[in-house]
Amino acid sequence: MAETIPKTQKAAIFDSIGSPIEIREIPVPEPGAEQVLIKIAYSGVCHSDLHLWLGDFPVQGTCPLVGGHEGVGHIVKIGSNVTNVKVGDRAGIKWINQTCLCCEYCKRGFEQNCENAGHSGCSINGSFQQYALINATEASKIPDNVDLATAAPILCAGSTVYRALKESKVQPGQTVAITGAGGGLGSMAIQFAKAMGMRVVAIDLGAAKEEHCKKLGAETYVDVSKHPDLVETVRKATNGGPHGVLHIATAEKPLELATQYVRTRGTVVLVSLPKDAQLKADVFWTVFRAVTIKGSYIASRQDTDEALDFLSRGLVKVPIEILPLSSLPTVYDRMLKGEQIGRAVLDVWK
Ligand SMILES: [Zn+2]
Ligand SMILES: [Zn+2]
Repeated sequence: MAETIPKTQKAAIFDSIGSPIEIREIPVPEPGAEQVLIKIAYSGVCHSDLHLWLGDFPVQGTCPLVGGHEGVGHIVKIGSNVTNVKVGDRAGIKWINQTCLCCEYCKRGFEQNCENAGHSGCSINGSFQQYALINATEASKIPDNVDLATAAPILCAGSTVYRALKESKVQPGQTVAITGAGGGLGSMAIQFAKAMGMRVVAIDLGAAKEEHCKKLGAETYVDVSKHPDLVETVRKATNGGPHGVLHIATAEKPLELATQYVRTRGTVVLVSLPKDAQLKADVFWTVFRAVTIKGSYIASRQDTDEALDFLSRGLVKVPIEILPLSSLPTVYDRMLKGEQIGRAVLDVWK
């Protein structure tokens, strides 16, 4: 029996970049031939949502805009050409909302880099609303045994760090260093890395985060405030440098240092997007030590499925705080002040 879909719904929307976010009644969108309509239960709040609202990125959203790209719920309607999913399936909305499957990057299996991609909460209204659209091929299947609210942050944060760890090429038994390890993204990265058989060096500011990082699986914790010579400290702690580094800290300096302490032939993976940041690395030593420096962007559909499977098998725990949709401006405010503890997940029906 099909459930009734209302004509209008509640959404957190803004009219132009940086203008106030308001809770408004807007039409429930109709799925196109290739799309599905998902009744959203929860949506995680990502730092990129905040940056898009403020216009901090070189790419800008299409206003008026409903943000959000960590939505979970179930499918209530499918387009006429959709065959891979059905009404009633648990499904997720992620950043990549549609791809062309025809450009060079799609053909090479890098659909997250699709030249014609549509993005949730940017070029198409996202998951800070009760009903949202996504192409059927891009909707992630949410495993039956996971809690929906907990699954939400895996759609962006979790799958992003999981992909970045793969990009680091660190093998089981080898060491990965994680900058900004005590934060939300870092906390997930530690757990994924451990589950993937990597040895983790957590790097962050302050003694308070040591216990937290070690509890999640870090073998070593390096408190930046205690070690003015960070390069020497990390090299010593890892007997010559970590095989890979995930740069998650939202500052420029730790990235420069990572290019220095990474092991010879190691890989530095850029994940976070500090505003207007530039990358500085010594060319001679980068060449001489054959260091790889690369960016890692979001995740493929397969990466996302695999990341959700880690959650389903109990290998990663996601600290969340469930809040009503109307608290989105408060969450952004807390994020700006660095006061948001755990991932904020919005209940779009409250
Ligand atoms: Zn995100
Ligand atoms: Zn494409």
